[in-house]
Amino acid sequence: TPMLAVDGVSKHYRNGRGIVAALSGVGFRLPAGSTLGIVGESGSGKSTMARIACGLLAPDAGSVRLAGTELVGLAVRDMRRLRRRVQMIFQDPLSSLDPRQRVSAAIEEVLAVHGLGDRRSRRASAGQMLELVGLPAAAGERYPHQFSGGQRQRVAIARALVLKPDLLICDEPVSALDVSIQAQVLNLLVRLKRELNLTMLFISHDLSVVAHVADHIGVMQRGRMVEMGAAEDVFRRP
Ligand code: ADP
Ligand code: ADP
Repeated sequence: TPMLAVDGVSKHYRNGRGIVAALSGVGFRLPAGSTLGIVGESGSGKSTMARIACGLLAPDAGSVRLAGTELVGLAVRDMRRLRRRVQMIFQDPLSSLDPRQRVSAAIEEVLAVHGLGDRRSRRASAGQMLELVGLPAAAGERYPHQFSGGQRQRVAIARALVLKPDLLICDEPVSALDVSIQAQVLNLLVRLKRELNLTMLFISHDLSVVAHVADHIGVMQRGRMVEMGAAEDVFRRP
């Protein structure tokens, strides 16, 4: 069973001028432990696909199965339990971090919400997660604005991984960072993928970024997956 199986997914949006077909019959498989990169220009439907894959958004049609469990049409309660197994990081790490909350508390909160551990063990886990992403455990005392952009994305990654999700969805995770910092964050994701046997869906408009982390690459164009293959094959094409 693949970790993620998407079949025939379509999604329309209504805007002032009419209906936009954001996704039209998209399908792909993501085997456990592998990384699928999705590239495509702005507006091709990548973010919509990411939000549907983690159950944040319902498709108009199609099927999304996480380790065999259908997400489409799932009851709210079951969806909440399932959502714990899929975490996302975004272009702007501040979208998932509260500026008034020390980052240790932000990570501990994720565990507390799911009733995991006591105060001491949650504090210890937060420290371990920060060290896992290359920050000192003591950085947990700081607030998000006291970190650089790249460090902040590391914090968001630590927070996303503290529940040991089955699937990590990265939506343009380095697009807002300086090029030199991009490589560091990408290398971190590659290391985490290896060490934790992570399954990742990695979305970017930048093929060179995707090629850095993905085993397989899908190319999206106007809401359709127009190409899919092993990274080296998609890359080799003229
Ligand atoms: P090849 O890519 O050479 O055909 P693979 O064993 O790598 O052989 O893949 C077999 C099939 O499984 C292909 O259709 C490929 O698209 C799909 N596949 C394998 N891994 C992934 C992945 N990580 N994401 C999406 N599809 C994958
Ligand atoms: P990408 O991530 O590749 O930039 P998106 O999934 O964000 O693509 O968008 C796909 C299409 O759907 C675009 O035409 C976009 O304008 C449209 N779209 C996305 N979100 C909304 C929304 N909330 N309301 C209306 N249209 C939207």
